[in-house]
Amino acid sequence: MANITCSLCDERACYLRRYSGQRFCRRHFIEYFEKKVKQTMLRYRMLERGERIGVAVSGGKDSLSTLNILSKLAEKLDLDLHAILIDEGIANYRAATIKQAKRFCEELGVPLTTLSFKERFGTALDEAVKLSQRNACTFCGVFRRKLLNDAARELGCDKLATGHNLDDEVQAIVMNYLRGDLERLVRLGIDAGSEQLVPRIKPLMEMPEKEVALYALLSGIPASFEECPYAQDSFRTEVRAMINRLEESNPGIKFSILRGYQKLLPYLKSYQAKALRSCATCGAPSSGERCKACMLLEELTPSA
Ligand code: AMP
Ligand code: ZN
Ligand code: ZN
Repeated sequence: MANITCSLCDERACYLRRYSGQRFCRRHFIEYFEKKVKQTMLRYRMLERGERIGVAVSGGKDSLSTLNILSKLAEKLDLDLHAILIDEGIANYRAATIKQAKRFCEELGVPLTTLSFKERFGTALDEAVKLSQRNACTFCGVFRRKLLNDAARELGCDKLATGHNLDDEVQAIVMNYLRGDLERLVRLGIDAGSEQLVPRIKPLMEMPEKEVALYALLSGIPASFEECPYAQDSFRTEVRAMINRLEESNPGIKFSILRGYQKLLPYLKSYQAKALRSCATCGAPSSGERCKACMLLEELTPSA
């Protein structure tokens, strides 16, 4: 009969960390998880004492877990946390997650600012999709990134934290690599490209998605596990399945992909330095004459 007690105490284990062989009970899993996230933040120097940190919260397990851990550190590091939520305008989906995020922020005593596509751009995502042939995720990704950055700047944040986990990072690395999209591959690993971009931090970037889900569950974080109704990126689905299959037979390969990417990054950065310029309309860093957000906005505004 296999040993099912925690590696650190006599309690029953609820998680086996396959790539290290450690087993954890509830209490020791939460302890391990929070400690490892803190180590990641230290290693990459994500936080400085006294900083104002914007936390991008969607209401999902990743962003609320990020907020939970940062709020535990806030007092010690004298951090000033502000949660930022973007309401894309997705009927029958966003309202419930907004409610959850609001409740959790109130519980933690963290102020929450909500910005919507409709207010800021004049078009909710549901409308944009009807006006254009483009995929919903194209608008969503570009506009959300812009609004998160605008909100963080308006609030005077020194950094913007997102809930991206190890799986998100590794999928993005492999997808960009397979597509030969060097620009995006570089951008992924750069925390700030210019003065206008609030530096990004990803405290969960070394935590596998499965562990984040377990952490949220065991910590009683009221996270939404619902999928966005527009989520249907088939290439991402294929890449995710491939990486998960590889991880099954080679535990730890997700970490190797991330580490390999980090070793490549210094060489990739010189590529980016050549490619970026400023958008002629809004001044944001852009690879072309105008940035993607300005181009998409123009498509949605029929000229008179
Ligand atoms: P996703 O691309 O949906 O996996 O989201 C990655 C991260 O982006 C989340 O963990 C959040 O930190 C942030 N994020 C996603 N959607 C929103 C949103 N609507 N409002 C604020 N932050 C968001
Ligand atoms: Zn234990
Ligand atoms: Zn622009």
